[in-house]
Amino acid sequence: MTMKDEGILLVVSGPSGAGKGTICSALRQAYPDIHYSVSMTTRAPRSGEKEGISYYFRKETEFRELIQRNAFLEYAQVYDHFYGTPKKYVLDQVARGKTVLLEIDIQGAMQVKKTYPKGVFIYIVPPSLQILSQRIHDRGTDSEEVIQKRLSQITRELALAHQYDYIIVNDVLEQAVRKTSAILEAERCKLSRNEGQIETIFKQYITKEVSSK
Ligand code: ADP
Ligand code: 5GP
Repeated sequence: MTMKDEGILLVVSGPSGAGKGTICSALRQAYPDIHYSVSMTTRAPRSGEKEGISYYFRKETEFRELIQRNAFLEYAQVYDHFYGTPKKYVLDQVARGKTVLLEIDIQGAMQVKKTYPKGVFIYIVPPSLQILSQRIHDRGTDSEEVIQKRLSQITRELALAHQYDYIIVNDVLEQAVRKTSAILEAERCKLSRNEGQIETIFKQYITKEVSSK
C-alpha cells in the first residue's frame, strides 16, 4: 500500500496593510496549483469585489449560525465585521495533497496554529510604521478612523510575530514574493511531506536493481 502525502496549509498573515493581499495574489499567479481559501465575511463588498471569488458575503445572523455549527477553521471579528475560513474546503484539499493558501489576520492565524499546528505560518511586515501608514493611506480603501484603529493594534500584533515559522519584511515587493515562493518550494521538499512519494520512487529503484541482476 502506498501512503498518500498530506498537502500544505500555507497561512499568510500580518497587520492590515502589510501586503498580504498583494503578495498572495502574485504567489497565486506564479503557482496556479495553489488552492486559495475564499473567506466568509459580514462586511459589504467593495467595488469590484465578487461573491465567491473575493469573499462569501453573508449576513451576520447566518455567520453566527455557522459559528454554532462549527463550520469555521477559524474566525475573528476584525474591527467591526466577522471574517472566517470555511473549514471543510480547507481540510478536504489538504487531505487530497493540495497546497491551500489562507490570507488571514493575526487573531485567525493564531487559532489555526492551535488547531492545525502542521501549517506553515508566514508573517508579513512592512519595513517601518511610517511606510505601513503611507501604504494604507495610498491604498485608499479605508476611512481615517479605520486606519487609526488598525495602526493602534500594531504593537500587540508585532509581539505575536514570534509564534510564526517565517517572517518576511515587505520592502521591495518582488523580493518579498520571491522569498514567499522560496518558502513554499522548501516546504514542498521536506522529507516529512514526501513519505508516500519516496516510497513509490524507492520501490521502483529496488525492482530495477533486482531485474538488472
Ligand atoms: P494587506 O492585504 O496586508 O492589508 P495590501 O496587499 O492591500 O495589504 O497592501 C497594502 C497597500 O500597500 C496596497 O496599496 C499595496 O499595493 C501596497 N503594497 C504592498 N506591498 C508593497 C511594496 N512592497 N511596496 C510598495 N507598496 C506595496
Ligand atoms: P478586508 O476587509 O480589508 O478585506 O480585510 C480585513 C482583514 O481581515 C485583513 O487583515 C484580512 O487579511 C483579514 N481576513 C480576511 N479573511 C479572513 C478570514 O477568513 N479570517 C480572518 N481571521 N481574517 C481574515
